[in-house]
Amino acid sequence: MIELEQVSRIFESDEGLRVEALRDVSLSIGRGEYVCITGPSGSGKTTLMNILGFLDSPSSGTYRLSRKEAQHLDADSRAWLRRRFCGFVFQNYNLIGSLSAFENVELPARYSGLAKTARADRTTQLLGQLGLADRMDFKPSELSGGEQQRVSIARALMNGGAVILADEPTGALNQEHGKEVLEALRKLHLQGHTVVIVSHSPAIAAGAERRIGLRGGRIVSDSGRVSRRKPAPNFEPNHNERAIGLLGGLVEAIHSGFLALRQGLEPGMRLRTILPVTSVLLSVSLGILAWGTGNGIYEFGSERLNSMGFDTISIMPDSTGSGSFEGLSLTDAEIIEQVDNVRAVSPRYYRRGVMVRRSDVSVETNISAFVDLGAKERRGKSGYRIAQGDFITEDEDRELQQVALLGSVAREKLFQPADDPIGQQILIGNVPFRIKGVLKRRTNIGREEQSNYREIEDNANDWVFVPFKTASTVLFGTEKLKGILAFLHNSDRAAETVSEIRDAGVRLHGGDVYFFEYPQKLLRPFRVARQQLWLSGGALAGVALLAGNIGHLVIMQMSVRGRRREIGIRMAAGARPQDILRQFLSEALVVSFAGGLLGLVVALACAPLLVFFGLPVSLEWWMFAFPVMCAIVCGVPISVIPARGAAKLDPVTAIAQS
Ligand code: ADP
Ligand code: MG
Repeated sequence: MIELEQVSRIFESDEGLRVEALRDVSLSIGRGEYVCITGPSGSGKTTLMNILGFLDSPSSGTYRLSRKEAQHLDADSRAWLRRRFCGFVFQNYNLIGSLSAFENVELPARYSGLAKTARADRTTQLLGQLGLADRMDFKPSELSGGEQQRVSIARALMNGGAVILADEPTGALNQEHGKEVLEALRKLHLQGHTVVIVSHSPAIAAGAERRIGLRGGRIVSDSGRVSRRKPAPNFEPNHNERAIGLLGGLVEAIHSGFLALRQGLEPGMRLRTILPVTSVLLSVSLGILAWGTGNGIYEFGSERLNSMGFDTISIMPDSTGSGSFEGLSLTDAEIIEQVDNVRAVSPRYYRRGVMVRRSDVSVETNISAFVDLGAKERRGKSGYRIAQGDFITEDEDRELQQVALLGSVAREKLFQPADDPIGQQILIGNVPFRIKGVLKRRTNIGREEQSNYREIEDNANDWVFVPFKTASTVLFGTEKLKGILAFLHNSDRAAETVSEIRDAGVRLHGGDVYFFEYPQKLLRPFRVARQQLWLSGGALAGVALLAGNIGHLVIMQMSVRGRRREIGIRMAAGARPQDILRQFLSEALVVSFAGGLLGLVVALACAPLLVFFGLPVSLEWWMFAFPVMCAIVCGVPISVIPARGAAKLDPVTAIAQS
């Protein structure tokens, strides 16, 4: 089954020292043999075992497995051969301390892609066979030496373990435990496994079928193959290796990431996890809060401004404009209504200092006429509100009805407080109008219910409002319009809309004849504040993230260094370099993700606090998505460096780390 021909293994140190650990070793081991290798310390026993188990490659010579040459295989193929054929039992057990007995045993099957339930069944069965059924959830540190070694035997059998390579398996055990372990290995031999043991113990050597002596890297004695009728193997090789698909690989990687996080939270390791998690957490929450505050300040401004009806642009004729321009007409209203962001327009007439009479009372007030005063959708959020009676409708306007609304000051001038003006008649000039409603008193800045704004008497209070068409027929005649109000869909785009209206006016009149009033200009400082907070907050969060990631990188480098033995153990269990790479990447991903998630939680918890202290914070979904993405996008690439270092480790040197 296994044939070595003239195999040498030469170690060359950096200082140029050459050690020939194996020299021209030729050896053939048949299926089902029980071999004991003996020899003084330093004679090359471990080196030979590593070559037999594809952990190491010979410097020269030929290694044949089932007649196929295997000495020049790459790391992946060697990992595959280890998974498929070999089970290792080490002197110091080499269990992964952070994993339970169960998890240690199932490890090789994870790398061979065995399905979860099958894996669990086999693990349970193997641990049962080795008398460890009630120790499954114990950590290695909670097990005796003998128990640990039996766990490692179960692990060696997980993927079949056709060849069991045990390097001084009883060396660290007392006599009683040593006997148990030996008994377990003997049983495996009887079941048909090929067993190779390295041992100093004469008792073990005596118990083996075949004894090979090594000295100075050469075979000095070999009792020879025992020719006998080989028993058919009655153990179950576990060779249904599945290709781990992309999804399976991802699930596996995330699982190992979470295992690592759990391990990272154990005492002694905590700092290693907490530091990078905290740095990601801080930068993510910092970023979210800075952005949320910027957004909040802007929203605070725009909400206040909009609540004052500032989604309205007022267009008036520019008196300094070109000489031929005679004033605004309905054509202007029509072209303004065509502009994209304009929801509706109200052309407007007005005349100041008009005499209005009611029976014996005669007062001077102002007349304003514009279309559809009452329709909500044509007005700003804080449009005129009715105190009594009703608004003028579009129909009344179309039918040229002579109806009027009174502003609060106009009402006071014309009526006693106790009078009911509704339905009464007034004369504007000589034209009779019926009073349909009275408007609420308006203040110019701030909402009525908000006392922290300075309130100014709105001059609209001293007005009488009449329908546009009626007024143009009976009051204003051929007079030009005094202005046009444009109501916007989106007040954020007021500035653009103004320039579009200006362009339309230029096309119509051949010159820039419009004068605009649009209080959205006031939003500009809020917008600037938002931009500055976004920029500075983003930069701060970015710097924190970078610092955190550099810390993470350093910690991961240290962690890889500290976990070299674990990496070696995983490789012996059949992990390919890419499995190790994926593991460290996913650990970094999980750490970054955990940090990002905690950062969200912290930001969410702090936001109400900031609001309480008067800082407007307004969070939006993208603010949550962005930092988490940032954490992942920065955290994972940075971890590629240590992860690749881990994947490139040589299994033999890695496993030899203390
Ligand atoms: P044994 O297991 O019989 O005690 P080893 O196979 O571990 O012997 O070692 C055989 C020889 O090879 C020793 O002299 C040892 O110092 C040397 N050796 C083993 N591994 C290495 C290595 N990675 N680098 C350099 N020398 C090594
Ligand atoms: Mg050794």
